[in-house]
Amino acid sequence: MRALVITLAFSALFLVPLLGGPLKPEWIELSYPFNSETIYWPTGVSFEHTKTMQGFTDDGYYYSAYDIRASEHGGTHLDAPNHFAEGKWTADQIPLDRLIGPAIKIDISSKTAQNPDAQLMQSDLEAWEKKHGQIPDDIILLVFTNWGRHWPDKKKYLGTDTDDIDQLHFPGIHSNASSWLVQHRNIKLVGIDTASVDYGQSKMFESHRIFYKENIPGLENVANMAQLPAKGFTVYAAPMYISEGSGGPCRVFALLDCA
Ligand SMILES: [Zn+2]
Repeated sequence: MRALVITLAFSALFLVPLLGGPLKPEWIELSYPFNSETIYWPTGVSFEHTKTMQGFTDDGYYYSAYDIRASEHGGTHLDAPNHFAEGKWTADQIPLDRLIGPAIKIDISSKTAQNPDAQLMQSDLEAWEKKHGQIPDDIILLVFTNWGRHWPDKKKYLGTDTDDIDQLHFPGIHSNASSWLVQHRNIKLVGIDTASVDYGQSKMFESHRIFYKENIPGLENVANMAQLPAKGFTVYAAPMYISEGSGGPCRVFALLDCA
């Protein structure tokens, strides 16, 4: 009898996927690889990867070990609150539970299609809530502008391939949205698929200052957000653990909730 039960249980394991049972977990990469194409802020140091040791040693075994150099703020990366708010968390001080958790996506791609200076407004947040319910507490909020479609074309992605920051054009988060979020909702991390949480034409970086003053860190140049639903997924952000860092390179990925 026991043998029969075990046999049936094993059969069920193999049959369940065929019958539309539990789905395989679906992981989504939300970072860009670091390489010579990685986009940095115009004033930053681009990623340098020097292949200092590569090949067979005199003792006959293969060995590779390389050097890296870059600014903290380039490619898919973390902004620590200390980046724009004195006395707030540096990269190493951010508690791990602020970097992992349930997330939502606010889609403003229809506004950015014709206007590189479009911004997430309070009204976009209210429209999302009308459709999906109130933004939950302790949530990671991602803003999808569909700007990743320009990556890694620096001129299209930043609006300029020069060092002139006055020519930067890309979407961002308006201060009326960031103010409303910190006053009325309880988000723990904010991310966007552009080079900055403030739009390219920003001069005072209001949304950086509003979020980071409240110890809400940021993720910038988040990749592949088109593959995410509006809600029902968990984000994992694993930034480089830099003592006193103002931010740093970050691996970001998501796990979709099983339907
Ligand atoms: Zn940054």
